[in-house]
Amino acid sequence: MRRVNVTLPDGTELELDDGATGADAAAAIGPGLARAALAVRQNGEVRDLARPLVGGEPLEIITAKSDGALDVIRHDAAHVLAAAVMELYPGVKISIGPPIENGFYYDFEFPAGVTVSDADFGRIEERMRQHINADEQFAREDVTVDEALRRFRAEGQDYKVELIEDLVADAGPADPLESVSLYTNGPFTDLCRGPHGPSTKRIKAVKLQSVAGAYWRGDAARQQLTRIYGTAFFSKEELAQYLERLEQARARDHRKLGRELELFMFSELSPGSPFWQPAGMAIWNELSKLWREENRRRGYREVKTPILYDVELFKQSGHWDTYRENMYFTDVEDRPMALKPMNCPAHVQLFKEARRSYRDLPIRYSEQGLVHRHEPSGTLHGLLRVRHITQDDAHIFCSEEQIRQEVIGCLDFGFFLYDLFGFEPKLELSTRPAKRIGTDEMWDRAEAALQGALDARGLPYEVNAGDGAFYGPKIDLHMTDSIGRSWQLGTVQLDYSMPARFDLSFTGADDADHQPVMIHRALLGSFERFIGILVEHYAGEFPLWLAPVQAAVLPVADRHAEYGARVAAALGDAGLRAELDSRTESVGRKIREAELRKVPYMLVVGERDVESGGAALRRHGEGDLGSFPLDEVAERLLAEVAERRYSSQR
Ligand SMILES: [Zn+2]
Ligand SMILES: [Zn+2]
Repeated sequence: MRRVNVTLPDGTELELDDGATGADAAAAIGPGLARAALAVRQNGEVRDLARPLVGGEPLEIITAKSDGALDVIRHDAAHVLAAAVMELYPGVKISIGPPIENGFYYDFEFPAGVTVSDADFGRIEERMRQHINADEQFAREDVTVDEALRRFRAEGQDYKVELIEDLVADAGPADPLESVSLYTNGPFTDLCRGPHGPSTKRIKAVKLQSVAGAYWRGDAARQQLTRIYGTAFFSKEELAQYLERLEQARARDHRKLGRELELFMFSELSPGSPFWQPAGMAIWNELSKLWREENRRRGYREVKTPILYDVELFKQSGHWDTYRENMYFTDVEDRPMALKPMNCPAHVQLFKEARRSYRDLPIRYSEQGLVHRHEPSGTLHGLLRVRHITQDDAHIFCSEEQIRQEVIGCLDFGFFLYDLFGFEPKLELSTRPAKRIGTDEMWDRAEAALQGALDARGLPYEVNAGDGAFYGPKIDLHMTDSIGRSWQLGTVQLDYSMPARFDLSFTGADDADHQPVMIHRALLGSFERFIGILVEHYAGEFPLWLAPVQAAVLPVADRHAEYGARVAAALGDAGLRAELDSRTESVGRKIREAELRKVPYMLVVGERDVESGGAALRRHGEGDLGSFPLDEVAERLLAEVAERRYSSQR
């Protein structure tokens, strides 16, 4: 009898009968694993337990704890959803149902007159649970194309028929597609590549979450389908935790808080472009001040460049060829012009303005660069995805020998900033892609320079092999916020292409011409998105230095209002953002409202304070701190502002 050998992750070799499956391998290792096994991974691909193993390849048994395990049961759950919906809504047509980040969906065309909303979720979930409890196996069969077409045509499942016809067309006549795979769980059969778990019972917790419209194949000219989103987990506890996190995120939603705290607004008159209200502008200006101070301290020189350019500039920069779809165009006196989508070509003009020598390098330009990028209206999302973007941009022109030092400088700058806000950073190095410009030697040097910079600072990082830009490798800076969500904020990219396109040069110590390297660097990403993230990170409870109103002065009675006005003015003169609440309301109510607005400090002023020239100080979320002379209050607040503490808590 022939045997098949596979290598386990710990390096041991497992020898099995020819034709042995993943389930056989798990059983051979131990009965516990046989029960826990969900699927296997071979050659980087997740496969069903029931499929024969490929000899000679490493084998990993996937259990609930493995990477990719949730995708498997979420895909299972999508099929169970389709099974339930087909039973509950006869005549429904099914299209596709993949796992996605955090869950799954399935797209349906319901019969005319039938609409489904979240009010129906209870009933659908109930039916799904019946299928899950019935422990229905996922059975794969490979059938001929004709057989599959015959079955789905007979069932009137037009979308499946179209999918199969497209698979046939894609394969082409040279190497015709002969069979497709079907998966059956209980009464339901789907055209599907898999993989799936062994049975429905592995889904321990499932929840439907929302309904949305979705066009068949994402094409607005085609049938509008109903997409049902859901999620699934290996335990009820994990599902509950996930829903709790979602609830937290919802409460922190920057669009909601932005409205409540009057930070910014949006209007259909300028979609995707925030209107900043005074309170939001206070945050913007504080960030701007920080940005300006730190750039200056780190040897950047601030510049400002136009937003509207002759399209010739973008033809030379390459944006015309690769980025035109995302750009906005207009004609100015019959001249085709465009809004810049990036600041780089503008900074190149500044560099070119004078003859440069090696003694001038590195040249570091920083700009709060206003760029416009077209994002489809369906993808706009508050401040997180906008069309009007103010980047905290910088471009460094340097010699190749200076790259490492400059990149270290960028990373240090990034860590300094993220630390101020209490973000946990995570770094990714993206290396040469298949499609690229430049020689292998150039890429060797560029990647080594970035790696060298990361290693020099002893920073852990992940490598995304092949994920670099075509013009150079890059380091992306991801941050984890206070509720554990990850955001990409910054990027440090090496660029050999743009200096060549614009024929940039400097005179070296050898008196010969050399081409500088360009480093594109953004750390906050954009002011818009960064403030959106900050609102959610802090849940609107900004640390004192960022708080739109830092102190609210609350007179106890009308007769203390005049003194209150003097207190607010004195704090304002000291450089603090103070506001007087002179309404004829009880002081208790004024305090409650200031707390709701998350104002960090409240100064309650009454009879005694008018006489003593002081105020009773309260801290948001903490309560009464006692009475202090006014200059002491101002000093205390100014010291806290200067510290730029990352948290609103002390
Ligand atoms: Zn499927
Ligand atoms: Zn750039």
